[in-house]
Amino acid sequence: MNLHRPHEECGVFGIYNHAEASNLTYLGLYALQHRGQESCGIVSSDGTTLHAHKRMGLVADVFGNQEVFKKLPGKSAIGHVRYSTAGASVEKNVQPIMVDYSRGSIAVAHNGNLVNAQLLKAELEAYGSIFQTTMDTEIIIHLLAIARTNSLEDRIVEALKRIQGAYCLLFLTESRMIAVRDPNGFRPLCLGQLGDSSWVVASESCALDLIEAKFVREIEPGEMIVCNSDGSLKSMFPFKKIAPTPCIFEFVYFARPDSYIFGKNVYLVRKELGRQLAREFKVEADVVIAVPDSGVPAAMGYAEESGIPFELGLIRNHYVGRTFIEPAQAIRHFGVKIKLNPVREILEGKRVVVIDDSIVRGTTSRKIVKMVRQAGAKEVHMRISSPPTSYPCYYGIDTPNRKELISSSHTIEEICRYITADSLGYLSEEGLLKSVGVNKTNFCKACFAGDYPVAFPKPVELPQMGLFEEEHK
Ligand code: AMP
Repeated sequence: MNLHRPHEECGVFGIYNHAEASNLTYLGLYALQHRGQESCGIVSSDGTTLHAHKRMGLVADVFGNQEVFKKLPGKSAIGHVRYSTAGASVEKNVQPIMVDYSRGSIAVAHNGNLVNAQLLKAELEAYGSIFQTTMDTEIIIHLLAIARTNSLEDRIVEALKRIQGAYCLLFLTESRMIAVRDPNGFRPLCLGQLGDSSWVVASESCALDLIEAKFVREIEPGEMIVCNSDGSLKSMFPFKKIAPTPCIFEFVYFARPDSYIFGKNVYLVRKELGRQLAREFKVEADVVIAVPDSGVPAAMGYAEESGIPFELGLIRNHYVGRTFIEPAQAIRHFGVKIKLNPVREILEGKRVVVIDDSIVRGTTSRKIVKMVRQAGAKEVHMRISSPPTSYPCYYGIDTPNRKELISSSHTIEEICRYITADSLGYLSEEGLLKSVGVNKTNFCKACFAGDYPVAFPKPVELPQMGLFEEEHK
């Protein structure tokens, strides 16, 4: 796999058999906007034809005009929000992908990342396939088109048996909706019901809440669910059963705190991460603040456990997207300032504990420590509610390559010096697992430990990051 290629973080939503399918999908995507802010799309089915509307931009911008829904008729729809970091943020890569092939039309929305995509693509191209996008997801469509089996379910299974990696997929044809979660269960996917006769599938339960759908259950790792036109639901487990490895980083950072994923509520898990962090890294201080929004539940847990008061010492401008969106390092530096402003009255003269969920490149923490000191803090103690992120993710969370991950090449003391904090403490791996505490689940924690559950081609080693190169920028 080409490691310099952008990875995708995404969210999927689908609804089957509802008169307002595309409108509800819009709302579902709205609730999943945190999973991808770069582009979005909806494909609907009116029973005989698929209709699509997809663009670069936020859900509210792309679907803000009611006229759009006239172009998305029908009682079933799937939607997608996508986020990529560089080059491939182009119109042709906006999902869901929709194609016509010998058996009719099909649309697919994908959350995750395939690890054998490049190999399969090369093989398919050698046999004459012409790709229209640079997305892994298109490979699934090509495999499906050349499958030798007959029924759609069998063709999907035949195609998916060839792919490795992380996927939550939603397929929509003229008459059916099919959801599949990969056997490792890397990314979350849940099933809901609206009224008696509409089925809903979403990356996270917060999307069901918004449309007032009932949470039925999580879709199991390796499970395929087919929504049939008679209203029935068929569940199958067509893949070889393996021990699932859901992504622990969904709990740490990615999922929304009001969602229920992998058997737990995300907010409660994050709060417990903060409590555990306080047990592991106590410090004498006057106030605990969070890097909003990602650090808030952990900071509340830290404050509760340590007895140090929690305050909103940094205020976030909510009209700015996640800082990661900007592709260039130079803009990212600027981004932290656009997004956060300190409250001097809370920080002046204080010993401050700052909680964030993770340090990736170190840019955010460095800027925040500086900002908090400029607002008059006497001491700044950085606490991170996960272990050092030392390894890239190949399963759909956008983490940069090792070269850019500060903890892959620097000790905690060096990082502390770089971010100019008085002290720095990361939650231990044991502390993380204990706090998540889902019985018998073997989480994927490759970003912290480098133990990748699905093998991938070996990365090309790049020169390590020089910490103080941009000191005076
Ligand atoms: P950095 O400035 O590169 O160290 O980024 C750290 C910040 O990015 C933290 O505040 C995290 O909440 C956030 N973060 C961590 N992982 C990701 C990710 N995969 N995508 C976007 N933001 C992230």
